[in-house]
Amino acid sequence: MPDLNVIGVVGAGVMGRGLAQDLAQHGHKVLLIDIGKDILDDAVRSIRQNLRAQLLMGKKPGGKGVDETLSSIVTSTDLAVLEEADFVVENATENFGIKKDIYRQIDQICRPQTIFAANTSAISITRIGSLTERPDRILGMHFMNPVPMKKTVEVIRGYHTSNETIDTAKQFLSQFGKESVIVSDSPGFVSNRVLMLTVNEAAFLVHDRVAPPADIDKIFVECFGHTMGPLATADLIGLDTILYSIEVLYESFNDSKYRPCPLLKQMVDAGLHGRKNGKGFFEY
Ligand code: NAD
Repeated sequence: MPDLNVIGVVGAGVMGRGLAQDLAQHGHKVLLIDIGKDILDDAVRSIRQNLRAQLLMGKKPGGKGVDETLSSIVTSTDLAVLEEADFVVENATENFGIKKDIYRQIDQICRPQTIFAANTSAISITRIGSLTERPDRILGMHFMNPVPMKKTVEVIRGYHTSNETIDTAKQFLSQFGKESVIVSDSPGFVSNRVLMLTVNEAAFLVHDRVAPPADIDKIFVECFGHTMGPLATADLIGLDTILYSIEVLYESFNDSKYRPCPLLKQMVDAGLHGRKNGKGFFEY
């Protein structure tokens, strides 16, 4: 098995910053990349806050203090630093054009043996693999949010993904306490093919004035015993990410059952992105 010490994390949004924190707390050096210094500064600020909150609750994962953990995270707006990476997890915006640009570049920058894991909600891993000259070393790694608190990862095998890549990915995940469920490639995989339809249909219920968001979620929590209802889940994921994912499913399957709810589109246009900016179906 290759050494997996230096991990490239591309994208420092909701997922990238959670992943960077988790990896740093488990002894990895992290190269965290985004397009703006302001985004990276904000990511470091929120990781610092999370680490302090953990300390207040008496937790100290990895036995390291706040500053020591943060010192393992190097931020940059230049993908070229990934030359040093042993493994890369890409968490950029759920948009094929954006991801395409990134994979084309990192395929040239990174060592040929470096594996790329795409943390995408719905985009085909085989399609991502086709952007590179290493489709056997591309796989999907669908982390759950918040990353440091979620132990299980949906791992997706693309058409060309090799067994060695899957084995290395499992080893990488186990190094920071994660278990994997391996599934075959299909847009949305297992999780989001089901979840996105549920969330979209719940948005249609609000749009059609069948019930308000709180009542819709209450039925799932109190009648079905779910920890969260579909609309609070959508707010946690980010309504922009939900919309992009449903659009990917719609385009990938050419099936009208994935048509995005107009209310969801309107909320995203109005800047209501959920928990990450304070308002979605609920207020935070
Ligand atoms: P986000 O919008 O919070 O963050 C995306 C980040 O990518 C932004 O900071 C953006 O500036 C950055 N970015 C855009 N172009 C870039 C580029 N060229 N180079 C580097 N960074 C770039 O989104 P998120 O919720 O963190 O989602 C990231 C990925 O993870 C998406 O593909 C999403 O579908 C997937 N995902 C999200 C969740 C979730 O619950 N939010 C769960 C699993 C997977």
